[in-house]
Amino acid sequence: MNQWHRYKGLITLKRIVVSLVVLGLLGTAALWGLWRYRRGTRWAGVVPTPLPVTQVPGLADRFDFPLDPTRFGPYLPYISSPFAIDTRFGVQNPGVGQEGKCFVDRQGKAVPFAQLYHAGEDWFGLNSNGQIQGRAAAGEPVRAVANGVVTWIQALGNAGYVLIIEHTTLTDTVWSVYWHIADIQVAQGEAVTLGQPLARVHDQGFNSHLHWEIRTFADAQEIFPDDSAGGRGRCNGYVAGVGYTWDDDPERAKPEAWGYLHPSEFVTAHQE
Ligand SMILES: [Zn+2]
Repeated sequence: MNQWHRYKGLITLKRIVVSLVVLGLLGTAALWGLWRYRRGTRWAGVVPTPLPVTQVPGLADRFDFPLDPTRFGPYLPYISSPFAIDTRFGVQNPGVGQEGKCFVDRQGKAVPFAQLYHAGEDWFGLNSNGQIQGRAAAGEPVRAVANGVVTWIQALGNAGYVLIIEHTTLTDTVWSVYWHIADIQVAQGEAVTLGQPLARVHDQGFNSHLHWEIRTFADAQEIFPDDSAGGRGRCNGYVAGVGYTWDDDPERAKPEAWGYLHPSEFVTAHQE
């Protein structure tokens, strides 16, 4: 083999190595894309077609929790984790590391997340000591809190879906709301019974949780005047609300002022 042949051989080797590296990168990118697709699109599932005629539900004579309260629950500050995180109803700044983008003030400026009041409860997976278990809630069946009829299902992109059920009790009508769910198993207009699986908790990694609400209104548009912060908080869709309340006027800043009820207290009071 003379010098020229050796040189040519090296060029060929270099080409093979470069080709392998490029193919490897392309393959990795394709796998990553497929993983994102399965996680974001396929896993959140397809919503069943709404029923042409709305079914008549049974009376909501009894309520129960959407997840097993011995295995799931909200963050309690310094108890569920070493941090001040509190995801109960009515607290300000229930989480960390998120930006306020759902509410704007009268000048159109975004209100910081830390100022919003939590209009529901965020339930995560807990261990037997009541400590948060990262992803444990992901995939867990979410159950109807009472007899009722499904009135609303909406996609929230990477945050799964939100679903609303209307419940007629002996004295009132209330609505239960389930955020960050996937794999919806019921249709809009379908009557559901207490404990019936509706969907699963959406896989959001360590943040996998069910945000659930009990409230005295169906459509947020009906209760938030346009001049209020509630009216200006529309980023997740108007009917569902945005899961938080806030206002320049402290009198109407908290969720109770808008007709949100304390979910756990409501269920406990209506379990029998
Ligand atoms: Zn929440």
